[in-house]
Amino acid sequence: MSTTDLKWSQYDFTQIPFDNIVSVGQRTMLHRDLFTVSWLLGRFCNYSCSYCWPYASSRKKDHRTIDLILMTIDEIKRQSRDNNYNSFHFSFSGGEPTFHPDYLEIMEYLADDVPNCNYHSVHMTSNISRKMKWFEEYAAICSRFHRSSITASCHREHVDTQEKVAEFADKLEYCQSQDIQVTINQVMLPDKFEQCWEDALYFHERGINVTLKPQSDPTASFIVDGYTDSMLERLRNGMPQRGFTDTKKLIRRPRPKVELDLRYEKTGIPQHMQVELEDADGKKYYMDQAERFNTFNFNKFSGWTCESGYRSIIIREPDGSIKRSYSCSDEPLGYIDKGFKLFQKPMPCITETCVSSADSKIPKRKLV
Ligand code: SF4
Repeated sequence: MSTTDLKWSQYDFTQIPFDNIVSVGQRTMLHRDLFTVSWLLGRFCNYSCSYCWPYASSRKKDHRTIDLILMTIDEIKRQSRDNNYNSFHFSFSGGEPTFHPDYLEIMEYLADDVPNCNYHSVHMTSNISRKMKWFEEYAAICSRFHRSSITASCHREHVDTQEKVAEFADKLEYCQSQDIQVTINQVMLPDKFEQCWEDALYFHERGINVTLKPQSDPTASFIVDGYTDSMLERLRNGMPQRGFTDTKKLIRRPRPKVELDLRYEKTGIPQHMQVELEDADGKKYYMDQAERFNTFNFNKFSGWTCESGYRSIIIREPDGSIKRSYSCSDEPLGYIDKGFKLFQKPMPCITETCVSSADSKIPKRKLV
């Protein structure tokens, strides 16, 4: 089958009965003792894109010291282990996280703890502006984890020639060759939709996964107007995720202490179907990326029991707050420089809209 044939999902996500779903979660959290940390290391970014929200980036360096970061890692793992979670996923973003002056040392510190964990993975969201040499060092450290992944954003105001787009793709191809899972997040601006679609196709044809994201309003609460039916159709079912690195396992990674075999041969579900949903009759459905939830308006979980704050946190600068997750209107669990306390059990959702895909895939169950 050619790559072009695979632009459309073999799973028809429009068939999922969203009104009747009573349980949802990322498969790796549902089936593993996984604690996830989403850490905005600082707002500093080397780019200044006109469309970037002012609160999301800054030209001023605002990073915490490595000592405080390493102490916070230790405390997260201590409290999580007290709650019987000894698998970890750390996801770093910003700003541009790769410009934290100690980024690679932080990664080394996490890698040193891998033998003590049942499982350990790392992720970063990056504009991929660091040089190839940096990615070579990064990939070498990543090989010490059980899994590593990157979400890349191609900012065309800076990556503004076809040569720079090709160089951006080269670095991602290299990462894939080092067994790092890569997805490019393509925000599909309604007024530049066709150009965004062309870029997405270019990456797709080069064998790099692309996630299509609708543009949301500045408060990230709803999707902006301007999408036609044809655009919405492409957002809902276009560019399914594929296991591009599945056949490129050249890197010998450590084996997890606790194996979780989600391979297609074992489960009958493609491994890159990250999200599992269950309806009231116990029937299961799968979706590649929770990013699609918003296009189905599947983002209202108020009253459900949610595991955020119990087995997942976010850390956000500039105030260093530690919260359940991005969308949650709960009070912070604490602050990076003052201490924090995780929940001791899953707690009710008190938030009207769970709009971030990072939040919506944290396990949650409707109380019936
Ligand atoms: S808003 Fe927060 S508490 Fe509510 S479902 Fe989303 S992550 Fe869970």
